[in-house]
Amino acid sequence: MPEDIAEVLHQLIVTTRILANEEVLDAFGHVSVRHPHDPNRYFIPRHRAPELAEISDLVELDLDSEPVRPTQYRLYSERVIHGEIYKARPEVNAVVHHHAHAVLPYAISGRELVPVFHLGAVIGSKVPFWDQRDEFGDTNMLVVKPEEGASLARALGPHWMVLMRRHGATVAGTDLRQLAFRTVFGCHNAKLQSQAIAHGHVDQLSTGEQEITEAGQLGAMPIERAWDYWVRHLEKAGLMPEKPAAKRKAAPAKASAKKAGGKAKPAKKSRGKKRR
Ligand SMILES: [Zn+2]
Repeated sequence: MPEDIAEVLHQLIVTTRILANEEVLDAFGHVSVRHPHDPNRYFIPRHRAPELAEISDLVELDLDSEPVRPTQYRLYSERVIHGEIYKARPEVNAVVHHHAHAVLPYAISGRELVPVFHLGAVIGSKVPFWDQRDEFGDTNMLVVKPEEGASLARALGPHWMVLMRRHGATVAGTDLRQLAFRTVFGCHNAKLQSQAIAHGHVDQLSTGEQEITEAGQLGAMPIERAWDYWVRHLEKAGLMPEKPAAKRKAAPAKASAKKAGGKAKPAKKSRGKKRR
């Protein structure tokens, strides 16, 4: 994951829009990333549909999911999902909660989601279930209390994806690109498993196949290849957010303008003309 905060925030918005564009997120759902320099904080967009999220919508929260600085923004009610997973899993640096229709039949039926094709190996060796009703009885089904988020994090355990009964799923990653990879192919796996069920038989990966394949798929090359493909989709759809300004370019320009003395004025004029 990039060290530069501007790069991380840009990547968070790109990931959010990729997951919306690839039919994982719809009007609801959210993606977050742990602060690259402070493990006790994370970034998440304000309350709005993921495809509309801008870098300026990002808020910084502590692991109790409270804003680090006062904000006028309305926040996602289910943000505790993110904070409680970051508390429980130090190696997790990115989280998404979604209600993708591809996985909902498993959340509804309780049928186990298993890796059924090679890229599906990235869902991990097990996708556990969490049923809010077990601990909390009848609720509005939103994960809004810290204890509800902590319960979900316990159900996730050491795994990377947890199905939430009658609600959706939450997926974790060591970084945003891995998260996007696991989430998109996790949904593809669910669709294919449903289709195989309709054909009458599911031939899932063996434990050994899952382990070996997952290790290969989570290497830098496959993740970069898929990321570039999804970014191209965003570009075609006109959804790619603007890149953060490169800091290194700005500094030498100022220094050279000072040294150049009188030459700085014509340069300013020419920039002004370009703007018009
Ligand atoms: Zn939800």
